[in-house]
Amino acid sequence: MSEFAARICQNLAEIRARIADAAVRSGRSADQVQLVAVTKYVGEAEIRALVAAGCRHLGESRPQHLWEKAEAFRDLPVGWHMIGHLQRNKARRTLPLVELLQSADSQAIIEVADRLASELSRRLPVLLEVNISGDASKHGFPPDSLEAVLEPLSRLEHIEVRGLMGMASLEGGLDRARRDFAALRELRERLRRNCPDRISLDDLSMGMSGDFEVAIEEGATIVRVGSALFDGIDA
Ligand SMILES: *Cc1c(COP(=O)(O)O)cnc(C)c1O
Repeated sequence: MSEFAARICQNLAEIRARIADAAVRSGRSADQVQLVAVTKYVGEAEIRALVAAGCRHLGESRPQHLWEKAEAFRDLPVGWHMIGHLQRNKARRTLPLVELLQSADSQAIIEVADRLASELSRRLPVLLEVNISGDASKHGFPPDSLEAVLEPLSRLEHIEVRGLMGMASLEGGLDRARRDFAALRELRERLRRNCPDRISLDDLSMGMSGDFEVAIEEGATIVRVGSALFDGIDA
């Protein structure tokens, strides 16, 4: 094994151990938290090393990069997660490649996704991205707007809403991140009281390299980790 492949293996083992510990602290087991490895910083060799080390869920934040990588790694047993803003004119090419659209950030894009999924005769799993930090530069549904969209979304036959996705504020450190993650979980609990049957809000995708343990303690079921996996590697 090359030196960098060994390093990726070791980074992955450490991150999995930290995920497991945080899961236990939140009263759950390691297998109740899914790791999505964000590959936007790296190329082919690093991705192959990650998959060889056991990563099965990979995430990209830019549609074009997801197209290129999904195409290049068609031979690998992986599922791709779209985690960044998806423009409507890129949906047709992106969605057939995607296992989970984590960044469903407007009713309009979800309606487009429903039509495309219908053409593909599939049901597309999505998470509703919420702008929890209120940062104007971020995408996502404003928290207060979600209650009103659940009912119309539940009528889309080719969309399967599975939960919420969010990012903590860039500033404010871990304390602020914890408050943001708790706010997303509490929003989920509030929405659940009045949630149409066809919609599940079981998944909470929150937490990145700098804050995934805090996110798991606050209830994350999916964490999206990029840079920490490639620590010590010049990609
Ligand atoms: C890049 C990115 C991540 C991973 O970030 P790291 O801090 O490198 O772990 C997670 N989520 C989204 C939406 C991203 O764009």
